[in-house]
Amino acid sequence: MFDQLTDKLNNAFRKIKGVARITERNIEEPLREIRMALLEADVNYKIVKQFTESIKQKALGVEVSKALNPGQQFIKIVHDELVKVLGEKAEDLKLEPTKTNVIMMVGLQGSGKTTSSGKLAAYLKKQGFFPLLVPADVYRPAAIEQLKVVGKAVNVPVFDIGEDRNPVSIAKKAVKEAKDKGFNVVIIDTAGRLHIDEELMKELKDIEKEVNPDEILFTVDSMTGQDAVKSAAAFDKELPLTGVVLTKLDGDARGGAALSVKFVTGKPIKFVGVGEKYTDFEKFHPDRMASRILGMGDVMSLIEKAEEVVDKKKAEELQKKIKKDQFTLEDFRDQLLQLTKMGSMEKILGMIPGMANIKNASKMMDDKKVKHLVAIINSMTPQERRNHQIINGKRRKRIARGSGRPVQEVNQLLKQFVQMKKMMKQLSNPSFLGKMKNLKK
Ligand code: GDP
Repeated sequence: MFDQLTDKLNNAFRKIKGVARITERNIEEPLREIRMALLEADVNYKIVKQFTESIKQKALGVEVSKALNPGQQFIKIVHDELVKVLGEKAEDLKLEPTKTNVIMMVGLQGSGKTTSSGKLAAYLKKQGFFPLLVPADVYRPAAIEQLKVVGKAVNVPVFDIGEDRNPVSIAKKAVKEAKDKGFNVVIIDTAGRLHIDEELMKELKDIEKEVNPDEILFTVDSMTGQDAVKSAAAFDKELPLTGVVLTKLDGDARGGAALSVKFVTGKPIKFVGVGEKYTDFEKFHPDRMASRILGMGDVMSLIEKAEEVVDKKKAEELQKKIKKDQFTLEDFRDQLLQLTKMGSMEKILGMIPGMANIKNASKMMDDKKVKHLVAIINSMTPQERRNHQIINGKRRKRIARGSGRPVQEVNQLLKQFVQMKKMMKQLSNPSFLGKMKNLKK
């Protein structure tokens, strides 16, 4: 995600690293590079201008800080400006569990509307809502079928439209059914076209008038850059949009749409789609996204994801073990298995601070590799797992044979394990955590 932009911004920061003081002269070059980076990322030129001017002013006016050196201060200013263009703070959906909420999903064909409807239904279900999915794209029978498949996958009922082919009456009937049957969120998947046309807009407006939605979410493919922003602005003119769902962020190396859409439409990004799976859907947090863009990782999202799968008590026990230097290969295997539960390695690595800067990090640790590592650990005896120091050359060969992996991989794993043990000990050191917190300020 945003790899190109992250690389270029980090290049710009390198130019100011180590300066004794921020001056007009020494920020000229980094500012120029930031401007280029943003333009190449397909960010709206007006934003780029405002963004770089604001950074310049703030950087020159900044007071000397004890906690941060001038280079870090500059990065912090860029970070804060990024947060601002991304929308300042996370915006919730305005839903009330005690009533029948209506969410209308709108957007161009192929933007990810149907997929996002399903993802949103799953997300809301997890929050305790009872969603009903409604297929209102009557022109493409495949779209209705697709929503049924989506509904089944996320285990959310899909409204049966019967013979009705009028989107307005379908929406109306669905809301009535939701009221009758006690669903408290109706998610209407509307029709999309390849381009904006009047007929479609009229239909969407008619549905809007009929069901008076609490949320109208515009779904847009982030990979289409400024075209995405233009279509958002066009929809916003016709319909009272309440937010944006930015999809396919996983494939977006540039980030132009993410950084422009709030500025151009004034409507917040509420969710992002980060993959094709139904769980690849996240609430949008401007500050976290800014950190990700800067390659500083997204520790908060990582922690949240981890909390979903990690058993708290186990985590505390592990913490104790790490502190006492009793972390074993068995614990390592548990950790690897837990990581795989959190999603794909590539995504997880992207959230870890500094990882975005390590080229090929995801190649070093892809999902297949994790399986191999687990296989190797499984081929060890319990004693070996608890005390890696007894694993001599003969044992390594046996383990390699047992797991079907080359001896070099066994060696590599043991080396990594020792390094990791060391690193974990450092990470659990309170003075390190203190430093991390200071950086966030
Ligand atoms: P619609 O025409 O707007 O309803 O679009 P669909 O929901 O059918 O999505 C179009 C394509 O985009 C499908 O192949 C989806 O799997 C894919 N897609 C949707 N959201 C995402 C996402 O966040 N990431 C990725 N990689 N693919 C997505």
